[in-house]
Amino acid sequence: MRKYVIMGVQGSGKGTQSAMLAADLDLVHISVGDIFRWHVKNHTKIGAQVRRLVAAGELVGDDLVADVVRDRLQLHDWNFGFIIDGFPRNRPQAEFFLESYDLDGVIHLDLPDEEVRRRVLARRLCSRCGMDYNLIAHRPEVEGRCDVCGGELVTRQDDTPDALDRRLREYYGKIDPVVELFRRKEYVRTIDARADKVTVQQTIRTGFNLPPYTGAVNSRVSSAGPSGGPAAV
Ligand code: AMP
Repeated sequence: MRKYVIMGVQGSGKGTQSAMLAADLDLVHISVGDIFRWHVKNHTKIGAQVRRLVAAGELVGDDLVADVVRDRLQLHDWNFGFIIDGFPRNRPQAEFFLESYDLDGVIHLDLPDEEVRRRVLARRLCSRCGMDYNLIAHRPEVEGRCDVCGGELVTRQDDTPDALDRRLREYYGKIDPVVELFRRKEYVRTIDARADKVTVQQTIRTGFNLPPYTGAVNSRVSSAGPSGGPAAV
């Protein structure tokens, strides 16, 4: 059983690295942001509660986040372990998590602000199947169209320069105490996230004594259910 948290600023590659790690190690990749986006898209009660916050890039309340994470982990579909991405985002969330779960490692992706801006503002999302694209690193074959389902590619509502600046300020204010807390209690590896995705993945694996990445499994999964589990795409 392997249980990891992956942390890092927007655009640092948390989703990509989690998916690469999850694919051949059979870990369940849980993205809290994807779970909330699913609720918004499907007009659930939770979706109505979080829509404005998600659109503005502001944090959802800790109690609701804790409920969503607890419910997700209670599914116990993670026989070989999990990697949780986008959580915890502040100290109360980290404390809640540490009270309930033992972790094997905390992956802390580090990326300078100017590179964050460049990457985040190039992100696109398929409005139909949720597949992620990036106009720098992963362009669609046909401009503006999803390679998988042909759906229209859109900018995530919260990927605007203003929302990003606000998120960066909020991120650094809140995440440093989380990293501190994990450093005292858990096994944190800070990884330079500027390199290409395979190099970053290999660095993570070396840092945690995991088998090397072979690239044998297609790691581009998209979380399309409230459980945040990989959907068939
Ligand atoms: P992400 O995809 O991780 O950037 O998350 C998208 C949005 O979901 C964030 O801007 C928040 O509104 C919300 N969200 C995701 N994870 C958390 C969390 N741990 N705590 C509070 N809000 C969150």
